[in-house]
Amino acid sequence: MRESGERASGPMSPEEFQKRLEEMMKRFPGGGFPGFTPPGSGASGATAEPTSSPTPPEEEEEPISDPLSDFSLKPRDVKSYLDRYVIRQDDAKKALSVALCDHYNHVRAVRDGNAIAQYAKQNVILIGPTGVGKTYLIRSIADLIGVPFVKADATKFSETGYVGGDVDDLVRDLVRQADGDVERAQYGIIYIDEIDKIAGSRDAQIRDVSGRGVQTNLLKLMEETEVSTRSQNDFSGQLQFLMAMGDRQRKQQPSTISTRHILFVVSGAFDGLDEIVRKRLRQAQIGFQPDQVDDSDDEAIVRETRTQDLIEYGFEPEFVGRLPVRVVCQSLDVEALFEIMRSSEGSLVRQYEESFLAYGIEMNFQETALRRIAEMAHQERTGARGLMTVCERVFRDFKFELPSTDVRRLSVTPELVDRPEEALEATMASASRQVEGEKTQLVHEFAAAFRQQHGVELVFTEPAAARLALAAMDANRPVRDLCAERFRDFQFGLKLIAKNTGQTRFELQAEDVVDPQKSLSEWVVASYRSDGSDAEKGD
Ligand code: ADP
Repeated sequence: MRESGERASGPMSPEEFQKRLEEMMKRFPGGGFPGFTPPGSGASGATAEPTSSPTPPEEEEEPISDPLSDFSLKPRDVKSYLDRYVIRQDDAKKALSVALCDHYNHVRAVRDGNAIAQYAKQNVILIGPTGVGKTYLIRSIADLIGVPFVKADATKFSETGYVGGDVDDLVRDLVRQADGDVERAQYGIIYIDEIDKIAGSRDAQIRDVSGRGVQTNLLKLMEETEVSTRSQNDFSGQLQFLMAMGDRQRKQQPSTISTRHILFVVSGAFDGLDEIVRKRLRQAQIGFQPDQVDDSDDEAIVRETRTQDLIEYGFEPEFVGRLPVRVVCQSLDVEALFEIMRSSEGSLVRQYEESFLAYGIEMNFQETALRRIAEMAHQERTGARGLMTVCERVFRDFKFELPSTDVRRLSVTPELVDRPEEALEATMASASRQVEGEKTQLVHEFAAAFRQQHGVELVFTEPAAARLALAAMDANRPVRDLCAERFRDFQFGLKLIAKNTGQTRFELQAEDVVDPQKSLSEWVVASYRSDGSDAEKGD
């Protein structure tokens, strides 16, 4: 591709750009671009998390529905929705529900032309350890409201944007997530994780330029600014942007996007923040104020975070000032992890059940097994992410092996969770025993049909039937076919013996079914040798 050349030559006019794009499309008639990165994985390093269909709209598209124009959710509605997916985090859910409803009520008022001018945007700062549902909360809300959502790590950005990403790319990613619809992107949600990593140094002697520089850049976005919808120096970004839009939209879309109504959510673990808050609380406590907070409870301490603590942590006062909603998410104990597995609608249990069911295998998780998974996940110290790690480890070989076996049910027990390898072996062995049993039964059914058809009784001993069943399994053939072939024309020989000896019941031992024709010939010969009285009897 001529990507680097395009970068060097600077901005192009939209017409020129479209011409180039069309030329390129012609060169790849299948419509595929070698090296084309799908929208959302662009230069910013942002992970765009689709909240609606990520597929670009068709050229002849319907007008995009507008979930914001009739936004009428109440905080309780939002919380109830979150309760279905996110376990615990009640305080966070309440605070977020209120903030989000405020924000989108304001957005609706803006669009209706009756918003108050002095509205302070409800940007959110989420404090809490990894894997406790911070992203999940916000992504679920974006899903519910139907607004585009992007997530990125603050560490990906640099002050200048030359190394790493440029914070403006976040806004452009939002446009991509909105399928190129700038209007919709203006009301989207930008989530920036690891914000604590761009706190400036707490040591006044050290000037930490880069973190504070990124804060300043983010601050501009959070306040209000116009961002060009096309990155001037990112050809592939421009390409993706245009590809995300249909022709009609391309003509109508503005070339800049205002960040005024974009909701910003920043989050991080904020290690060490508890110490800062604790120190302040202790100082305030001296003399008056009864002690309200348990000094040894880090999470309770962090819930007391005030603006000054965040400033001391290394954030610019203006930056903190733009984040009025502070939410603390709790760490998740074993019981919470168990609840996530058992009752969250987004639970991994559903995911595993579905993926096994795709191979016709019904999975059944015992509660005691879920608890065991939760206990093991808790030891990982990565919140609910630990559940994924544990499940992946436990079920990896099951996922690989079982689809190619006759196993149709998998009961997940605590023993299976503790010793998956042994359990897999046992499951497969018992499945093959079960299949063998079913096939053995088919051998007996063949014998019953034989008797009905030919009037002579063919009886297989259990070892003989098992041997035939195994032979059918090895040859991967239906039992009936294998038996029909091995005992072809048997009725003639047996009837002859019956005539010679009067015998009408023939029991076959395991060794007789290996080469039944040979055994039959021997019996026939023997029947002629048997004494005359016997032969007479058959007559
Ligand atoms: P973080 O707090 O680091 O942003 P995430 O929200 O990305 O963590 O959580 C990772 C995954 O773990 C989620 O996608 C979700 O499946 C699960 N998860 C985390 N916390 C919860 C929770 N409180 N309730 C239900 N599932 C959760």
